[in-house]
Amino acid sequence: MIDGGLWHTDDPEVPSQRVFLQVRDVLYRGTSPFQEIAVIETVLFGRALVLNNVLQTAERDEFCYHEMLVHPVMIAHPAPRRVLIIGGGDGGALRRVLQHPVEQVTMVEIDQQVVEACREHLWNIHRGAFDDPRVELRFEDGFAYVERRSATFDIIIVDGPDPLGPTPGMVLFSPDFYHGLADMLAPGGLVVQQTESPMLLPIQTAATHLHLREVLPIVRTYLTTVQSYDSFWSFTVASRDVDPAALDIETVAARLRERGIDDCQYYSPEIHWAAFRLPPFLRRFIEDS
Ligand code: SAM
Repeated sequence: MIDGGLWHTDDPEVPSQRVFLQVRDVLYRGTSPFQEIAVIETVLFGRALVLNNVLQTAERDEFCYHEMLVHPVMIAHPAPRRVLIIGGGDGGALRRVLQHPVEQVTMVEIDQQVVEACREHLWNIHRGAFDDPRVELRFEDGFAYVERRSATFDIIIVDGPDPLGPTPGMVLFSPDFYHGLADMLAPGGLVVQQTESPMLLPIQTAATHLHLREVLPIVRTYLTTVQSYDSFWSFTVASRDVDPAALDIETVAARLRERGIDDCQYYSPEIHWAAFRLPPFLRRFIEDS
């Protein structure tokens, strides 16, 4: 809700909590066939993408989310060449993927209008990643793309919206979708999905863990913190043969060095190790689910 152009508050994930952000300006507002889109300039977090009244990413702390969504899986693979991103219309995940020695990145985003709005207003997040010659941009439903199982990938990144209400992202949390992801993983491949706040929506975090466990033997949940979501945040990664939680600090450091990645603001070899060590309440909740 943008009230008088001064404040934004998300449609709440849980009805009993609301956070208000002061807004300096509304830079873009549009309605696509899939959702309501806005780019706002907030006082605290800089420019932010808002879809269906829910903040998706903001300039000031997007690195806490995008570095942690992308680098742990990319680093866990010794040679990630072919990458699939589903969703991720702001380009922040794509930008981080392109820092690795990839040959081709296929990005399947349902909403061309989101990419166009972000391309114009959120340079600080995508930094021109959409124009990299290694990128194939496809505008279609990620679920339909995965259903066709037309290619395999070393890394699959699902950067979709919250699984709340009648949004186009709901299908990205369904068991059939996870079956498709598993079929599309090349040997040694890893898939990662953003899995919500384990404080506000622990059932969602655990549900994705369970669904992935049905299709792939190694499943790990790990954490970051995203202040503009007013929460710490979880990702869930799965693989047939690679355990990213077992990677030692020296190997992560060596791979970052070999790939010339030295600009991270959140991710580091120590953070990689620590992020997979879950607090007891969450470890127990996932184990017992
Ligand atoms: N960082 C965000 C968060 O967790 O709040 C999520 C990223 S946001 C950029 C999610 C993107 O997924 C949007 O650009 C949206 O258009 C796209 N999307 C939603 N449903 C989709 C679907 N079924 N297939 C492909 N992309 C989808």
